[in-house]
This record gives sequence, structure tokens and C-alpha cells, in this order.
Amino acid sequence: MNQMITTTYDVLGIGFGPSNLALAIALQEQGEQRGRPFNALFLDKQQDYRWHGNTLVAQSELQISFLKDLVTLRNPTSPYSFVNYLHSQGRLVDFINLGTFYPCRLEYNDYLRWVAGQFAEQCAYGQDVTRVEPVLGQRGVEVLKVFSRDAQGHERFRLARSVVVSTGGTPRIPAAFAHLRSDSRVFHHGQYLTRMAEQRCNQNQPMRIAVVGAGQSAAEAFIDLNDSYPSVQVDMILRAAVLKPADDSPFVNEIFSPSYTDLVFNQPEGEREKLINEYHNTNYSVVDLNLIERIYGILYRQKVANSQRHGFLCRRNIEGAMGDEQGITLALRDTATGEAENRRYDAVILATGYERKSHKALLAPLQEYLGDFNVDRNYRIMAGEQLKAAVFIQGFSQSSHGLSDTLLSVLPARAGEIANALAEFDQAPVGRTLRSLAMERS
Ligand SMILES: Cc1cc2nc3c(=O)[nH]c(=O)nc-3n(C[C@H](O)[C@H](O)[C@H](O)COP(=O)(O)OP(=O)(O)OC[C@H]3O[C@@H](n4cnc5c(N)ncnc54)[C@H](O)[C@@H]3O)c2cc1C
Repeated sequence: MNQMITTTYDVLGIGFGPSNLALAIALQEQGEQRGRPFNALFLDKQQDYRWHGNTLVAQSELQISFLKDLVTLRNPTSPYSFVNYLHSQGRLVDFINLGTFYPCRLEYNDYLRWVAGQFAEQCAYGQDVTRVEPVLGQRGVEVLKVFSRDAQGHERFRLARSVVVSTGGTPRIPAAFAHLRSDSRVFHHGQYLTRMAEQRCNQNQPMRIAVVGAGQSAAEAFIDLNDSYPSVQVDMILRAAVLKPADDSPFVNEIFSPSYTDLVFNQPEGEREKLINEYHNTNYSVVDLNLIERIYGILYRQKVANSQRHGFLCRRNIEGAMGDEQGITLALRDTATGEAENRRYDAVILATGYERKSHKALLAPLQEYLGDFNVDRNYRIMAGEQLKAAVFIQGFSQSSHGLSDTLLSVLPARAGEIANALAEFDQAPVGRTLRSLAMERS
């Protein structure tokens, strides 16, 4: 690696999904207010802006009101609102006529791209960040070195006084499938569109496909396979006894309001956990009611026609998976009867959710300063005295900040809080650390 170093950024954002996009807006506002823009750059490994691009099937809808866009909850007068996007596209009246709060995800992706396009100068695409290292100076670590690799494998680094890691979830692969990671017939739902485009059902050849999971992604995959691929027979395989609806009733929805973050954060650890567990069924292993009804309707019509195309295999443990030339064989056990059976598929789609751990791998070289990666209320990791540079995370603090942390719900509020904290950090004389700032405040 041979590069000239010209800039030390105020902020380097890692990942340019909705979280850091919301932050880019908040930093712009904050910069205008203080009369001095932040020197901020966001790095994303994708070649251009896409929001879960491989999952954008025709029938997918946003699971949150469009009013909870990147900015409206904090600043309804911002030009970056979903309503302004609709207006700029000449679709505001038509959207109103639709009478929905839930645009399709294709449209929401387009909205996010529209905003991202306005921050093009602050984003470097095709930069896969590999690690963040400390630069040790006389007073401790005031600067961080962010390494990234481009599509050609060239590595470079950039320097920053603060980083905000917002790299989202990592596909969860169940243990039974770990050894099939390189088998192209088994793939996670996060790769759905790309991998389906390679399948022979595109040439209308018959295929048997298993969809593993009981959440929204599994339901969306089932519907899309049914609608888009007439030659495909699908088995939906789930450990649960039934598909359960997501609870998005109004009182329950209050847990996704920005003020609820304070409530969760201010609880003792055990109480936080209870609150999170109590409302788990708002987000995990649940499906929008209208999709459940569609799936039930599809299966019912099969009964009427007395022709079973798709299967719904509930209460099934997958005890093993084996690949050979014939296909992928799944060893299933009915958890109620104990009965075992093997089923063979041409492809298996793992709609098995996401883990939240990528920040730890990226920040591993800073581990000695960052301890357990616990954050303060403003999402800054509480670091040892030696680390003067600031490290923030977005989307990895569900256990301390509540269920909204991995969703779109509080993006504008969280981005505003981080932007304020960054402004405060930027003004702090060198040598004042997070802990000393906190002590001064108390
Ligand atoms: C299919 C799907 C649908 C969803 N629908 C909803 C919904 O309707 N409502 C809702 O509230 N939530 C939804 N979610 C939850 C989702 O987490 C949020 O919508 C949102 O995407 C979170 O934004 P983020 O920026 O934190 O993470 P992400 O959107 O995951 O963005 C992370 C970004 O970081 C980049 N990145 C990752 N690693 C690196 C690296 N090492 N170097 C450089 N760049 C990197 C990625 O390319 C990506 O652009 C959905 C999630 C999925 C998977």
C-alpha cells in the first residue's frame, strides 16, 4: 500500500445504509447551524446505493409508516422527506390516492437512492471496510485509521477523528447448513434475487424449493415463488407451530417512538431485557397479517383444487442437510410426533434472519480500548482513557436502547443525537475524553 495522506476526516461513516444516510442529513443540518460543515465521508462496500437490494420483490412493502422516513420526526421541514421525494417525482397526488402509509419497498429504495444521490460527494462506494486501527500518539489515540478494499482488491486507508459504524446485519446461517456455505443451491434470503435469477425455473423447468423460516422474509419468498415461478413447488419449513402476525397495533407501536429509547436506556439491565422480550413479537419471527392471509388463501385453494403444489411443514426441526448430485436432502423431525423424514430439494432458501456482530470484527484492533462495546445514550462506545478518538455505532445497541435500534423507527432522532454528540466532541479541547466530558456534565 503506497498512498499520500492528505485528510484527517472529522467523521468517517462505515456503511451508507439508512442509518448513516440519516446521519449525513443530520450532520449537514448541524454544520449549517454552527456555521462550519463537518468534513465527513461515508464508505460503502456496494457499488451504488441499494437498500437490501436482493430482497426487493414486487410484493414487498415497507413495514413502517412512510412518515418515519430519514428526517421527518426530527425536522418535518427538511427537503429530504419522503413527501418531498414524492413531490419531486410528480407522484404526490397519486400516492395520496393510494391511501396507504406503507409504500412498496421498491419505492422506498428509490427514495433512499434519491437522498443518497444528493450526498454523492460525501460517499465512496465500492469500499469494503476491513478494519479500524488506532494511531497511537503522545496523548493517546486521537486518530483512527480506517482500512478498505475496492473491487479490484486494492487496499487503502483513511484517517479520522471519529468513526460511526453502521454496517447492518449479517445473514444468520443455521448450524445444520454451515458446511453447505459454498453450495450454490443453498442461499440466504439476503441474496434472493441474484440467486433466483440463476435457477433453471427461469426457463420454466420444474424445481422443488424449501424456504426455511417463519418470519416476514420467509413469507415474502413463498409468495414471490408462488407468483413468479409457476414451475416451482415450495415447501415452507418452520420450527414454530404456526405463522404469527406482527403486532403493529397503536399502543404497542409506542415502543418504537424516540422517547421510548430513554425509557429503555434508563432501566436496569434486567428490566431492559424484560421489556425487549415482552415485545419481541413486533419484529422477530412474525409476519404481516395480510401476507399470512395470502399464504393461507393459496394453500386453501390447493385443497379446493385437490392438487397439492406447495407444502407447509410446521413444527419441524431440521436435523441435518446433505448435498449430492441429486439435490439437497433435509432430515426433518416433527417436534410434536417425533416422526422423522427426509425430503429432497433442488434449492434451499434460508430466511433465517440476521446477526448483529459486524461492528465487533471491524473494531477488533481497538478491542483493548473498547472493552465490551457498551455505548452511552448517544451511541458512543464507552472507551478507556487512552482512546481520545470517538467511536459510535448504529444498529448494534438493541440490548441497551430497545427494539427500534435495528429498524428505521428512530433514525432521525438517533442521527440527531449522534450529530449533536459529534459537534460537542469536535469542540472539546484535545485530551478531553468521553469519560471526562461525562464527569464535567454530572
Ligand atoms: C429485507 C429487509 C426488510 C426490512 N424492512 C424493514 C422495514 O420495512 N421497516 C423497518 O423499520 N426495518 C426494516 N428492516 C430492518 C433494517 O435493518 C432497516 O430497515 C435498515 O436497513 C437499517 O439500516 P442500516 O443502515 O443500519 O443497515 P443496512 O441497511 O443493513 O445498511 C448497512 C450498509 O453498510 C454496508 N456495509 C456493510 N458492511 C460493510 C463494510 N465492511 N464496509 C463498507 N460497507 C459495509 C452495506 O453495504 C449497507 O449498505 C428490514 C431489513 C431487511 C433485511
